[in-house]
Amino acid sequence: MGKEIYDVAIIGGGPAGMTAGIYAGRAHLRSCLLEGMSTGGQMFNTATIENYPGFGRVDGPGLSQKMEAQVKEWGVEIQYDHISEIRRQPELFELVTLGEEVISARTVIIAAGSTPKQLDVPGESDFLGRGVSYCATCDGAFFRDKDVAVVGGGDSAVEESLYLTRFVNRVTIIHRRDELRAAKHLQERAFDDPRIEFLWDSEVEAVFGEQMVNMLKVKHKETGEVSNLPVAGVFIYVGMRPNTEFLGGLVDLDPWGYIKAGEDTATSVPGIFAAGDIRTKGLRQIVTAVADGAVAAMAAERFLGERGL
Ligand code: NAP
Repeated sequence: MGKEIYDVAIIGGGPAGMTAGIYAGRAHLRSCLLEGMSTGGQMFNTATIENYPGFGRVDGPGLSQKMEAQVKEWGVEIQYDHISEIRRQPELFELVTLGEEVISARTVIIAAGSTPKQLDVPGESDFLGRGVSYCATCDGAFFRDKDVAVVGGGDSAVEESLYLTRFVNRVTIIHRRDELRAAKHLQERAFDDPRIEFLWDSEVEAVFGEQMVNMLKVKHKETGEVSNLPVAGVFIYVGMRPNTEFLGGLVDLDPWGYIKAGEDTATSVPGIFAAGDIRTKGLRQIVTAVADGAVAAMAAERFLGERGL
């Protein structure tokens, strides 16, 4: 990328950012998309997506690749780089990359998504990649015929447990309450699956192992009883944290760190829009993310048009 000024800079290459790219490209806005890792975001790490209309069942990496191809088709420049800061200048924004390159744009769409939360227990970070994982799609196949644990009770924990049963001998879902938060149809499938067991009212206190994980220390919250669960791996799905730290107070956030923005994707700063999981919203799904991406791109186009930019 050169020193030109983009009409729109999109931060994040998940479904929200990629859809914003497609719409911005179709609107003939000079656009770039900045992505820190690989496009797809959380979607890329999802084994099977069965609630994206028109696709029946589709694998996350496959859907990500299709979206990326469509973004490129519309002339959006994709750059693989982290943004560490956004500076507000008169009539434009400067996006500073980790490599200290400065990218200038008249509008910005923030679609940086969210990152898996950690349990913050002893052993968790020590055994990352050696039995501790936040992505069953990425790592599940390494645990063929082994016993593993999944921590959490939401859609992700249950969906990924069901996925893991393709490979592993047994999945023990460890949940801190006595009922799941996950959608009812997922719960039913998990309860019916002989490879899935549950440890209710329980929390992981530590992860043990030698070269690889071999044991979890689990505490029953009601009785206080502590037990050891022998497992070869633990998959942690205890929710997400919005990737808003790099904004450094530039736009208003809610108490949980999500960008305050309504359905129009407008943030507290004119010219900056927020799309997808990173903004305050009731339902964080691929379909709601792609909807946000479209709205944000059109809002950016309107913003530029109204100012004759
Ligand atoms: P989530 O819905 O926030 O669930 C997090 C789970 O982790 C909850 O069961 C929570 O327990 C538990 N938890 C949180 N902090 C914990 C801690 N420190 N220790 C132990 N357990 C902890 O997160 P998610 O499952 O990642 O889902 C995020 C969003 O994506 C949701 O809106 C979900 O519907 C959506 N999603 C949808 C699909 C789908 O439709 N196919 C698939 C995946 C995700 P409590 O229940 O006690 O709070």
